[in-house]
Amino acid sequence: MTGVWLLAAIAAGGWVFGLPRRWLLAVLALAWVGIVLSHLAGIGLFGGSARGWLVAGGLAALILAYRAGLSWLRARALPVDQAASPPPAVSDAELDRYARHLVLREIGGPGQMRLRDARVLVVGAGGLGSPVCLYLAAAGVGRITVADDDTVSLSNLQRQVIFRSDQQGQGKAQAATAAMRALNPHVQATPLPRRIAADDVELVAEHDLVLDGTDSFAAREAINRACVAAGVPLIAGAIAQWEGQVTIYDPARGGPCLACLFPTAPAPGLAPPCAEAGVIGPLPGVVGSLMAMEAVKHLTGAGQGLRGRMLIFDGLYGESRMIGTARRPDCPVCGSGLEGGASAP
Ligand SMILES: [Zn+2]
Repeated sequence: MTGVWLLAAIAAGGWVFGLPRRWLLAVLALAWVGIVLSHLAGIGLFGGSARGWLVAGGLAALILAYRAGLSWLRARALPVDQAASPPPAVSDAELDRYARHLVLREIGGPGQMRLRDARVLVVGAGGLGSPVCLYLAAAGVGRITVADDDTVSLSNLQRQVIFRSDQQGQGKAQAATAAMRALNPHVQATPLPRRIAADDVELVAEHDLVLDGTDSFAAREAINRACVAAGVPLIAGAIAQWEGQVTIYDPARGGPCLACLFPTAPAPGLAPPCAEAGVIGPLPGVVGSLMAMEAVKHLTGAGQGLRGRMLIFDGLYGESRMIGTARRPDCPVCGSGLEGGASAP
């Protein structure tokens, strides 16, 4: 079997002299071809038989083909793995900041990315707006616009916890967005120091979700009209004295709008604003936090939202209850107009 010794000597020489693997294989293949040809020519200089050498060569070729196939598969699998990993734009600081979200089954990495990509409009940076703005910024909602034309006053500070005593007289939209940026520099918080009107459809359409924490029926009615026209869901919270409510208006996806439930303004004196009726300080904290919770759920797709339901919280007795809400086909704002149009009930 001098042929075997010849091939072994070639392999050892290639290893000693650091011959590249590809060249070594080529030299071995050449030697094998020489041995097989010598057998076929009837010379048989290197021992064995033509059949034996052919079988050995076939086995070696099989092993080499298997190894080449494996490395080809690995090369193909690698880019797919890289594509599935989060984009490099997510910093270690963000992974650390949102760690408690990332371990939640309902949020995780995909949910956190949805929050980062979301654009939310918060109308009213008051009692409800304070926890809404703080929790949405803390949760990593990527772009948040805060609309409010009011300024911070001393009587706000009993419940509007996003502001400090030394900010009296400052614009609420600017002061709130400054607090949000200080809390989380990864979010883009934009102040809009004005009210939202019914014809702000374009502005509303630039957002995925609107949260309304204003305290007058006229303001709520205008925001509802803009949201219905833009087809953007509206999470609305309302508070008075010890009681609050929260729901989502989303007629574009089958839910009611504000006007389905409250088609006309309340009679004068029936729903006085907080300035007249009073409000217990932690109440906007509870209801505003519920609004932020519903916003995070809506944006990430977690759990069941409040479409078709209204949560009512009674702080004085520590009770909460849920009532069903339904869209009205003859709603003056979101109705089709086929069943009476703008007629009130
Ligand atoms: Zn409606």
